Amino acid sequence: MKDCAKLSPPSSDLLAYRSMGFQLRPRVPARILLVNPPVPEKARWVREGRCQQRDIWGAPYPPLSLARVSAQLARAGFETRIIDAGPEGKDLGAVLNEGRSFAPGIVFLTAATPTLRSDLGWFAPALKKRLPAAKIAAMGVHVTALPEQVLSRYGALDFAVLGEPEAVALDLASALSSGGSVDPVRGIACRDERGLPRVHAPARPIEDIDSLGFPDWGKVDRAKYLMPIVGRPFTVIEFSRGCPYACGFCMAHAYGGRRIRRRSVDSMLEEIRFNLSLGVEDFLFWSELMTEDGAFLDRFLDTIIGEGLPARIRWVCNSRVDGLTAELAGRMRRAGCWQIAFGFEFGDERILRLARKGGSATLERGRRAAEAAHDAGIAASGHFVMGYPGESIETLRATAEYARSLPLTFAHFYAAAPFPGSPLFLEALEKGWLDPADVESISQDKASLRLDGLEPAAVDREIRRAYRSFYLDPRVLRRICRLPASPREFAGLAALGLRALPFLKLL
Ligand code: SF4
Repeated sequence: MKDCAKLSPPSSDLLAYRSMGFQLRPRVPARILLVNPPVPEKARWVREGRCQQRDIWGAPYPPLSLARVSAQLARAGFETRIIDAGPEGKDLGAVLNEGRSFAPGIVFLTAATPTLRSDLGWFAPALKKRLPAAKIAAMGVHVTALPEQVLSRYGALDFAVLGEPEAVALDLASALSSGGSVDPVRGIACRDERGLPRVHAPARPIEDIDSLGFPDWGKVDRAKYLMPIVGRPFTVIEFSRGCPYACGFCMAHAYGGRRIRRRSVDSMLEEIRFNLSLGVEDFLFWSELMTEDGAFLDRFLDTIIGEGLPARIRWVCNSRVDGLTAELAGRMRRAGCWQIAFGFEFGDERILRLARKGGSATLERGRRAAEAAHDAGIAASGHFVMGYPGESIETLRATAEYARSLPLTFAHFYAAAPFPGSPLFLEALEKGWLDPADVESISQDKASLRLDGLEPAAVDREIRRAYRSFYLDPRVLRRICRLPASPREFAGLAALGLRALPFLKLL
């Protein structure tokens, strides 16, 4: 076998260890490096499941996937190190030097569509040259959706990890470290003896997210991740995984699957308390569907309120628009929530349906959700998509107008991006809206769909227009200025505004 190879030296202890369900620690721990790679232009990129975006608010997310994988590996006895190149300010040379001194046998890196050429065509080959014996595995939505293509194109890559990575990474690392074959490892792609890509059977979903334990945040410099405006370290707490909806522009299911798996309230509370013991009081509760299960959310909020935690913690979350009521928003506020990011997506009902937003999401429901949050004292943030197939200049302007008409404090306007893994990707290739040569430069920062009567340049122009009309609206500016609770937060807000200006297309 050419690249589905073994690490040396083989160890029968490790084989035994693997066959016992990883209950024992390997006698000679293998070193494993986990990297969120640098990019040539030194920007900070978030590569977390469906989030494949540049850090625009000066707040890169802590690298949850890397910390989760590291926790599984460390628990099994591997020695791990995490490098999050952007937030740590490490360029290619610094990462390579650190990699060489750590001397890992395996490197797991996160890769995303907009940075794929640099992740796998620039960073991975440089790493391979510096660490020729190390096996390099990439994870993320893009490699999950197109494993054969990435293995054919990028020779430095040895493995693709498909879907949620924790159990797969542990299986792969255990097989490689033990000298066993990777053949039984599910959820990977590698090369066969002829050097051709080979995709293994999919991994089984992780049923019990609590069983993963807490992320290995001890390997991450938390001071690098500050909540915008608040200016204090924050962390991400996974609330649930999976999304049953099938919005055309979204690839969440390619990473976390379609079935919702929730944490237990006890486990999340324990994780909050653990973070408090480390001095972290600000949180992003990560869920595709925070408000979907009202009874579960009620239990969570009751427990937080009952334990008096709102006096100590502040948190933000995402939500669809169809789950939030005025009553629920009030309870979330009492439990410490200060911002909800909603996926409104479009300002036109027809496009909302065309994009298969599903559930009971409508413009009216969106308005009620934004008002409920605003009236409860929670800053409502809106995410909007522009340039979806079927749109016209009129619908793009309707989206911008809809955004301005809602009581929002922030708005983000993204180009409809046919990311691999999304339903829109295949449709765009089939209908000729996407040039296959452009697949690795798809980004939500720049329109790439070539639609009849709606050129990408026109979409980009309308996005700039939408940003300007939103952020120059005096009502929005008043809402933003009401956010800071102290002179320090006001300074944080001013710094955020200055950093955001170029991204908001106001410069
Ligand atoms: S609701 Fe739609 S946009 Fe949100 S995560 Fe699910 S599929 Fe994606």
